Amino acid sequence: MSTPHTASEPTPPEPQPQPQGLGFDPEALRERYRAERDRRIRPDGRRQYRRTTGEFGHFDEDPHAGPAVAREPLDDHVDVIVIGGGFGGLLAGARLRQAGLEGIRIIEKGADVGGTWYWNRYPGIHCDIESYVYMPLLEEVGYVPKWKYAPGAEIRAHARAVAEHFDLYRDACFRTQVTELRWDGTTDRWLVGTDRGDRMSARHVVAATGLLSQSKLPGIEGIQSFKGRMFHTSRWDYDYTGGDATGGLVGLADKRVALVGTGATAIQVVPHLGRDAERLYVFQRTPSSVDVRGQRPTDQQWAASLTPGWQRRRRDNFLAVVTGGRVDEDLVADGWTSSARLFQKIIPSNNYADLAPEEREHLEEIADFQKMNELRARVDTVVTDPATAEALKPWYRYMCKRPTFSDSYLETFNRSNVTLVDVSDHGGVERITEHAVVAGGVEYEVDCIVFGTGFEVGVSGLLSGRLPAYGRDGVALLDSWKAGPKTLHGFYSRGFPNLFMLGSTQSASSVNYVHVLDEQATHVAEVIAEAGRRGARCVEPTAEAEAAWVATIREKAADLHRFQSECTPGYYNGEGMPRARSEAYGDGPQAFYTLLGRWRADGGMDEVMVM
Ligand code: NDP
Repeated sequence: MSTPHTASEPTPPEPQPQPQGLGFDPEALRERYRAERDRRIRPDGRRQYRRTTGEFGHFDEDPHAGPAVAREPLDDHVDVIVIGGGFGGLLAGARLRQAGLEGIRIIEKGADVGGTWYWNRYPGIHCDIESYVYMPLLEEVGYVPKWKYAPGAEIRAHARAVAEHFDLYRDACFRTQVTELRWDGTTDRWLVGTDRGDRMSARHVVAATGLLSQSKLPGIEGIQSFKGRMFHTSRWDYDYTGGDATGGLVGLADKRVALVGTGATAIQVVPHLGRDAERLYVFQRTPSSVDVRGQRPTDQQWAASLTPGWQRRRRDNFLAVVTGGRVDEDLVADGWTSSARLFQKIIPSNNYADLAPEEREHLEEIADFQKMNELRARVDTVVTDPATAEALKPWYRYMCKRPTFSDSYLETFNRSNVTLVDVSDHGGVERITEHAVVAGGVEYEVDCIVFGTGFEVGVSGLLSGRLPAYGRDGVALLDSWKAGPKTLHGFYSRGFPNLFMLGSTQSASSVNYVHVLDEQATHVAEVIAEAGRRGARCVEPTAEAEAAWVATIREKAADLHRFQSECTPGYYNGEGMPRARSEAYGDGPQAFYTLLGRWRADGGMDEVMVM
């Protein structure tokens, strides 16, 4: 623990553990991490990727929707339009229903609800956050997941169950994309345009358009010349591979397959491709950290013993642990909760505020080195070929990339039909020809290329400008935000009445993102319901309240720049070009939820109701 000191009497630095006491040399590790970062940094940063639009638009087509269904354009009015049918939209719908709202319309691009879990159906898909804390509304729907880590199909089925339970299919529009929001100040309504020619209106709009919904492709030369089959993991082509999300990819028995990417998605896909393809080449630019999974079926005795409120208690417990809070018992007890201290780099909180910053940073770094050493050692115990094992070791700090968990990924590289191709020195795959993937000057002939190359970050919806919103006097949201986002609590912005945003901007962030969405949806539903009870004309923050919140965000913003600058590139750090500071609420998610509750209890609603 640090001792108190004054600014005029600087405390001498705490004695640091010596390298020999640690069993490793911190400076040597720092050096290695820097070298690994430097050889991966590309000058084109985010621009190295291609959008799955235009000439690459076929990569974005929906393989699950079936034949197109015609419908007449709608020109009706509802109380609330919710954009997005993923868990954000479903939670908004559910919480609004509980608050007594009737006219709720979900508008969704896919042919059903589920969002991420609608689109992503690749073999092996499951959620790597414990199902009992990740899947929302379990008690409301009366469901206990079958596994500690739920497979995608179970989560998708649950999304449908939520929609049915809260009667959200009633007015929903699927296979429909909102193209424009325009505030009509004469009627105090939003006019909502879509790609189906709809001209609906709504008193309130809730935008729940997700964070990672637009798949991206690597800008590899020659990609369009490939004559075999290509697809992105988020649009898996089971007509070609055979099988389903549980595996059995019989169509690949005589196929040579290339998988580009080794992120959290690839970790789940590789065991299936390795088992079922004749030959698998995994093109790896940066290895993921792969920790123990420990998947297990739900203990039925435990399920029967659950008492009302169990899910909230468990979810709160998980959040408390991963943000460094003190709890009597770690209920989830898995790879996330055992590494809690290391998450401070992405989920800031004030739970370690009693330590001096240098001491805190020092302890975090040592814990980080120890964890990463353990994960690198794990590779050696599993992978038999020493060169392959060496290439699979992650050399960066734990939260530079999303941690992953698997008990079958590393093992797959012991198969004789599976080859790891290290492309770390070449900025990634070099070239694609009619029949091959080229890396390091070697041509790997393949029949099929699967891109596990991830998603554009934060481009869906309002923040990217893809969904333009015009507020009072026709001002576009992004014009109003030229100098940076301006919101109260991340939800609403002055000049854009009755428009509610769910997301991470100026709000909370957490590894269990659905928990964040639930707290946000609950709050927004209460505000909308209160506006109805008061007969308010609209909901809109005052300029003062908005400015005060922006100032709070700035003042508390965690400075992640130094940490992220030292990381190997990836989407967490803007491909090696990190933002100056975080946009998330710096005291952390628990403090944010408490703050929202207090705001509601202490008459905060008065600030936003326009009568
Ligand atoms: P990621 O962005 O995490 O990974 C993309 C991969 O593609 C990286 O390994 C990247 O390498 C590689 N890559 C990109 N361009 C090239 C290139 N030119 N040549 C070779 N390799 C290349 O995408 P994912 O789909 O794996 O994961 C995205 C996010 O989705 C996760 O971070 C997580 O938030 C979420 N997710 C959650 C899961 C869950 O269970 N909850 C499961 C799966 C995903 P490099 O690292 O070097 O850039």
